[in-house]
Amino acid sequence: MTLEKATLPVPQFDQITLDDLKQKIEQAIEQGQNFLNELQEVPQSIQAQLSVLDKIDTLENNMGESWGILSHLNAVMNNVETRELYQTLLPALSEYYTALGQHVPLYQTYQHVHDASLFDTLPPAQQSAIKLALRDFKLSGVALEGENKKRYAEISARLSQLASDFSNHVLDATQAFSKPLTEAQLKGLPQSSVELLKQYGQQRELEQPVATLDIPSYLAIMTYADDRELREELYKEYVTRASEQSAHPSFDNTPVMEEILSLRQEMAKLLGFDNYAEYSLASKMAPDVETVNQFLVELAEHARTPALKEIAELKDIAKQDGIEELKPWDSTYYSEKLKQQQFNLSQESLKPYFPAPKVIQGLFSVVNRLYGITVVEREAPLWHADAHYYELEDQGVVIGGFYFDLYARSGKRGGAWMSGFRSRMQTENGLQKPICYMVGNFTPPVGDQPALLTHDEVNTLFHEFGHGLHHMLTEVDNISVAGTHGVAWDAVELPSQFMEFWTWDKDSLDSLSEHIESKETLPEELLKALLDARFFQSGMQTLRQIEFALFDLNIHKITPALNATQIQATLDDIRQKFAVLPTVSYNRFQNSFSHIFAGGYAAGYYSYKWAEVLASDAFDRFENEGIFNTQTGTEFRKAILAVGGKDTALDAFINFRGREPKIDALLRHQGWTNT
Ligand SMILES: [Zn+2]
Repeated sequence: MTLEKATLPVPQFDQITLDDLKQKIEQAIEQGQNFLNELQEVPQSIQAQLSVLDKIDTLENNMGESWGILSHLNAVMNNVETRELYQTLLPALSEYYTALGQHVPLYQTYQHVHDASLFDTLPPAQQSAIKLALRDFKLSGVALEGENKKRYAEISARLSQLASDFSNHVLDATQAFSKPLTEAQLKGLPQSSVELLKQYGQQRELEQPVATLDIPSYLAIMTYADDRELREELYKEYVTRASEQSAHPSFDNTPVMEEILSLRQEMAKLLGFDNYAEYSLASKMAPDVETVNQFLVELAEHARTPALKEIAELKDIAKQDGIEELKPWDSTYYSEKLKQQQFNLSQESLKPYFPAPKVIQGLFSVVNRLYGITVVEREAPLWHADAHYYELEDQGVVIGGFYFDLYARSGKRGGAWMSGFRSRMQTENGLQKPICYMVGNFTPPVGDQPALLTHDEVNTLFHEFGHGLHHMLTEVDNISVAGTHGVAWDAVELPSQFMEFWTWDKDSLDSLSEHIESKETLPEELLKALLDARFFQSGMQTLRQIEFALFDLNIHKITPALNATQIQATLDDIRQKFAVLPTVSYNRFQNSFSHIFAGGYAAGYYSYKWAEVLASDAFDRFENEGIFNTQTGTEFRKAILAVGGKDTALDAFINFRGREPKIDALLRHQGWTNT
């Protein structure tokens, strides 16, 4: 199939060299620094003040053009060269952003515009952008002086370095392990998993199948391998990654975590907060740390009874198999067996119905029905053969572009994410349309067949596409409040978790599924089994998320900063209270908890649950009005997806629902209540 060429000015991934990027990034930093150096005082006229604000947006946009590409390549095509360049540029970049955040004349310029009589006549998005900028100046230490100011800059630079180290250690530790398997060790694995592990072997020029810690391989072993010792071995490798418990001490994140926590607490104190959790909450929708804590503890109360029942069932089925004491490496394995027994459902029986191309096409048809938008694949230079480029059209007009890069491979960081590359913005050359990347670590295609996705992977795809729509359907033209920018972090997971609901609907599943051979959609009995199993272990899963969220909140709340032993003790204590399956003493989950040590979720992991309340409650309206109701879809798009940071998260929600959020729908969507 030949594709038409991209209509948006996409990056030339086939031509970009790291040298080019280096030059462009250094140039962007230099331009920014020069501008800051020249701005010695607040310009006289309001027009000149406004043009300073415009210039800052333009500089930010330019930075994204080059730094956005390097960050992306460093995440999906990581190698010695990308890593080295990234590390080399990080200090200068951090220095620039610190200088920007603490630039007093710049801050005063924003303040002047804010206080001017003209402020009320500015477009609402611009007003919000200015208010948020003023808040962020304070959170970046614009008020600091002398030694404190210098110290803040040092901390900032060091923290960005440590986040990068943390992330690299996790990737290196994940890639350091591989294990050729014997025929006997494959027992229990479905053919598709065996083929995948053989493919891993071939990539290493080995005759035997190979198990790795890449998520498709790891999950295949944990779900299916009858060999309990093998499961235990893989489990141990996985949960000790980047720790002192692993065979690779050079990737140990223990000192990195300690230093990160210590610097975060010091920074929070410098800025006048009691602790880092308070600092984090200062820019979020949740009012304060205690509210979040209470929210999580109450949610845990709802989850506890179902979770206890679920774990009892799990222990029971393991016992029938002669397992007296259920261990963490048994949990996924017997869960799959239990699911088969209770619902006559296996991941494996579903997979042939979810070939990736069909799922993607189905996803596009779902968003077409909801929002009237159309997706077209177009030809564009790409960084890897797995990647694809698409454009989003509304009434025949291209409004944004996005890339999919969905399959696990070596050199790609774990997990799934959306990252905005270009934001919607008014520029000198007219309106710049938003472009983003959506990345996954799905089971890759094996042989000539398209990738067959698990229902979990289908869910993840919808989740990331929700983030993507948030980025692309924005109608805001200010870069700092367009798309997900300027949206309170604990509300950012609303559009993403909201989209997941469409993977649990018959009508929608009909358009997502087509058997790889028979071309049939999901048959009635499988559909019923899938829907019946929807709440399977929802109590245990919720408690697990709460465990992570409380751990994150607590280690950022407690001062003075915790050392490694205390971090472990905090986690143990929370597990004691909330986990239903005891873990093992060597488990070092925290050492690869990239969300909070290398991502943006520090004292913010609770955001998933917080935003799930919003997503569930928003979806509740669709349930009442029809889940493909175009009017409701249009209103959701207008109130939530279009506004970026123009409206506060609470206002945006109220605009859609007509009232404040309630938790009832979430409890019902977990299968815990009927109302
Ligand atoms: Zn997300």
